[in-house]
Amino acid sequence: MAKAIPQPKEGILDIDPYVPGESKLAAGTKPIKLSSNETPLGPSPKAVAAFKDVAGSLERYPDGAHTALRAAIAKRFGLNPDRIVCGAGSDELLTMLAHAYLGPGDEAIYTEHGFLLYKIIILANGATPVVAPEKDLRTDIDAILARVSERTKAVFLANPNNPTGSYISFDEVRALRAKLPPHVLLVLDAAYAEYVMRNDYEAGIELVATTSNTVMTRTFSKIHGLAGLRLGWAYCPEAIADVLNRIRGPFNVSLPALYAGVAAIEDAEHETASAEHNARWLPWLAAEIEKLGLKVSPSVANFVLVHFPQGEERGARAADAFLKSQGIIVRRIEAYGLPNALRITVGTESDNRAVVSALSAFVGRAAA
Ligand code: PMP
Repeated sequence: MAKAIPQPKEGILDIDPYVPGESKLAAGTKPIKLSSNETPLGPSPKAVAAFKDVAGSLERYPDGAHTALRAAIAKRFGLNPDRIVCGAGSDELLTMLAHAYLGPGDEAIYTEHGFLLYKIIILANGATPVVAPEKDLRTDIDAILARVSERTKAVFLANPNNPTGSYISFDEVRALRAKLPPHVLLVLDAAYAEYVMRNDYEAGIELVATTSNTVMTRTFSKIHGLAGLRLGWAYCPEAIADVLNRIRGPFNVSLPALYAGVAAIEDAEHETASAEHNARWLPWLAAEIEKLGLKVSPSVANFVLVHFPQGEERGARAADAFLKSQGIIVRRIEAYGLPNALRITVGTESDNRAVVSALSAFVGRAAA
């Protein structure tokens, strides 16, 4: 008889572990890293100063209620601080939501090329992932609604979505909410909200304020440049904030993250500079790559999705290997069901120029 070993809960061994964007090349080379949608401008210098300031107090526990950070976020966006919950990255908040609301027998919906974490957190709680097809790499609310069953407990929607870069308008989000049954939790993951320059977009604050079944998650990892610290927040109906506060770790956000987070959210100037940098270089990158004859999906976030022709020598795998040989790391997204595309984060001016010139060399070489 085989020795009994501890067994995880059902669903956990069905999870394919999340594979982060690569970050290293051969020893000794400093790569241009455009694989994880990190900001090329770095964090606010004020956030860095706040981080350094607390270095002398690391023996202290952080404020478990995150009072100062919630107050700073509330002030910035005009929100009720009691309905803000902070976490170690928005990953933690999404994970807590799944933990609180999903269990065996439940279903949760996400879109065809939705952020990979959703499948992981659904399976981790013994629930069943249900995938709604997208239309032209864009969320299709009718496809989501068509997959709602009596068992549906939650819908996870990244808006804008990673890795497609597409978004749906506030009217569409509102229509989705209106047609979902009231007991279904709608999670609006707005990790890239600050980059969106569209009049018809709304991250989710208004729906959270006016419904009792919608949550919006936000992150400090992208435009605020604090991915390494792990910090995110959720805006919730009161009852859902109460649930998250019951299950979260008492000190789930570290002391440096709390301090740097306050400084980051208060530095609107730095945020604007980062948004403007992106607004300048996102269209440039897309246009220059399209000039090479490659298709680029329209993106409102801080990355582009580049599609390659079929064929071993001209395809995404070969392009990725070539970019690596030039010291440039981008993201392969086979795991998202897009085997012939690469996701490339908007970088500094010189990163962007380097990527275009490397892709140009690749396209020329592949055509030769
Ligand atoms: N949502 C989306 C759509 C993302 O792309 C990411 C980062 N890859 C996250 C959430 C998680 O970000 P974090 O945990 O760093 O806040």
